[in-house]
Amino acid sequence: MEQDQKQPRQVQGLSCPLPHTHTETVVIGHGSGGSMTQDLIRSIFQSQIGNEILAEGNDAARLQLFSHGEQLAVSTDSHVVSPLFFPGGDIGRLAVSGTVNDVAMLGAHPAFLTAGFILEEGFPMADLNRIIKSIADTCREAGVQIIAGDTKVVEKGKADGIYINTAGLGLIPEGRKIGGQFAKPGDAVLISGTLGEHSIAVLEARGELGFESGIQSDVAPLNHMLEDLLAAVPDVHVLRDPTRGGLATSLNEIACQSQVSIHLTEGAIPVQPNVRIACEMLGFDPLYLANEGKVIIILPEEHVELALNIVRASPYGKYAARIGRISEENPGRVLLHTAFGTTRLLSMLAGEILPRIC
Ligand code: MG
Repeated sequence: MEQDQKQPRQVQGLSCPLPHTHTETVVIGHGSGGSMTQDLIRSIFQSQIGNEILAEGNDAARLQLFSHGEQLAVSTDSHVVSPLFFPGGDIGRLAVSGTVNDVAMLGAHPAFLTAGFILEEGFPMADLNRIIKSIADTCREAGVQIIAGDTKVVEKGKADGIYINTAGLGLIPEGRKIGGQFAKPGDAVLISGTLGEHSIAVLEARGELGFESGIQSDVAPLNHMLEDLLAAVPDVHVLRDPTRGGLATSLNEIACQSQVSIHLTEGAIPVQPNVRIACEMLGFDPLYLANEGKVIIILPEEHVELALNIVRASPYGKYAARIGRISEENPGRVLLHTAFGTTRLLSMLAGEILPRIC
């Protein structure tokens, strides 16, 4: 651990100081995707099974396996969303999209997935069928195949219907260097669309919203949109999907990895009116809500207009916007410039606000 702090560039994912949150048992906040998760990863996992590849701290690992210039991107993800079906999606579409997106965030072409299913005794076959159909449909849309799988069944009461674990594999073309550690001062920060719909759709499905929002989850595979973007604008520095912990947490990770500060213009950040209303009623900040079909794009200023035009041409990028810039002062910080002319420090999400959102 001491070594981590002496060599921050080699452990970019873990180079920022985190509040220490020692507990005797696992608590729900350890699954938040925010600083408690990071602390758990650092203290239990990274300290014992860590290595340089894991320490890069990106959405997927980058492996140099071939003698030529291509690299392999590998990611894994588990899905425990509750309920299993929600407006705009279900656990099957979520499992495929989340994994495809994590591989695509390195600029890779996702090609193959694996899927492991943990089923609870008594789970309805009709629901299982519906979830597998959704997996098949989403794989077709993304152009990926499931090439290995596993099925386990546990006794009634020992799980909650179905959990799905996936892994994703894809090739990174030669010369492509995209990752959270590559943001540069002067770069622009884009977001591919409005924030928070996935969280609000799941809350509505839980009956916790209190009004009919009409909000659909944004869950979607983004690989085709990103391939179009990278074909036209190869010089992209960072791609990241702001899932658990939302935009604010993902940007904090990037600020730490790249040792830069990120300045956001509050008024430029797109949020649907009903998401804003739901947030005001429930006391949430849309900047911390999970998204499952959005991407943060960081790239040199001169490519902003072309990148926005390409992303906006995708059905998943219609509301893409430029929301901020990268600076070299105050490395590790994310600052929000509000409409009132004030500046607010945005920290990483600490504990859990919405458990089992994905
Ligand atoms: Mg991700």
